[in-house]
Amino acid sequence: MRDPRKQDFTPSCLDFGPVAFYLARHFGFCYGVENAIEISYRALDENPGRRVFLLSQMIHNPEVNNDLRNRGIKFIMDTDGTQFIPWEEILPDDIVIIPAFGTTLEIEERLRQRGVQVEQYNTTCPFVEKVWNRSEKLADAGYTIIIHGRPRHEETRATFSHSASHGQSVIVRDLTEAKRLGEYITGQRPYHEFYTDFAQRYSEGFQPEKHLQRVGVVNQTTMLATETQEIATYFRELMIKVYGAENLREHFADTRDTLCYATNDNQEATYRLLETPADLAIVVGGYNSSNTSHIVELCERAFNTYFIESEREIASPSEIHHFNIHTRERQVSTGFLPQKEKVRIVLTSGASCPDTLVDRVILKILSYYPEATPLAEVMQEMETT
Ligand code: SF4
Repeated sequence: MRDPRKQDFTPSCLDFGPVAFYLARHFGFCYGVENAIEISYRALDENPGRRVFLLSQMIHNPEVNNDLRNRGIKFIMDTDGTQFIPWEEILPDDIVIIPAFGTTLEIEERLRQRGVQVEQYNTTCPFVEKVWNRSEKLADAGYTIIIHGRPRHEETRATFSHSASHGQSVIVRDLTEAKRLGEYITGQRPYHEFYTDFAQRYSEGFQPEKHLQRVGVVNQTTMLATETQEIATYFRELMIKVYGAENLREHFADTRDTLCYATNDNQEATYRLLETPADLAIVVGGYNSSNTSHIVELCERAFNTYFIESEREIASPSEIHHFNIHTRERQVSTGFLPQKEKVRIVLTSGASCPDTLVDRVILKILSYYPEATPLAEVMQEMETT
């Protein structure tokens, strides 16, 4: 209410005396996720007696996916495309929900062939569709689309499928891969190596010697904004070097990044968290969630950071089970809560995490501080200030 335009990214502080939490100004469910969950529950309500499938995980959050499963929804495939239910088992009377990430044109076509009405419960987020539209415009203008995204992520696969249907496209995971692609632009690397370097990540008929002369960059909506910016700047400068500043527009489409508002707000709010005098950071979310991993990456710049799926991973005041985004393994750390008069904790979550999970983390940690000010008192004070 005090920030109707949501331009204030200052963290909120919940001070309980011996422990204080700095909460990001923006965190948790985004428009796209809320919309997708609402449509999924509606699909169940409107179709009693019919089988309701989700193409893959609705969002990257195990709690939400388990709840949907418990209500009877079945998943057709895993997030990496591994099939749980063969297409042949899908029948015309079945309901198939398309997740917020969207899906590929090939999968849509398969579902149509099975007689499924793909449009009926399509929860593709409008911000993802915006990226598809941007790619289409780039392709129409004759640019090759460079997609900054995680190659196996559903959203990136969907974006690639849509952009490749309009023009030549290639996926780069990060700046290192962008620079490798750049070596084909400058001719430093033999063209034939492109096909192994970027295997399964380029569109059909891609010829590096021809299709890297005019490029534009779009991104998976949940990447790190700064990294996409770096990648776009890298290609811009490279094109100036190769073709001259006067010919830049011919060779580089100056698109601004295609992050969605939620990713943007969450990342901005996280940057502000980095300025707080906290002892540690806890980030709550699904381990395969792209936007949450990026928030973890940012927090790690300033704090010992613990990425957890729920409060259950806090085993005791001294032991926490968490996920290491670099090794992609779970690990156990001891002594995560420092022994000091006042412990300050940064707490935030990704766009696919229900707020109740963050509440439960606060309650769990508070249970280790019996002398802490009661929650109701702190909340009341927050509301009156
Ligand atoms: S993170 Fe952004 S693009 Fe993805 S579902 Fe949420 S609002 Fe849509």
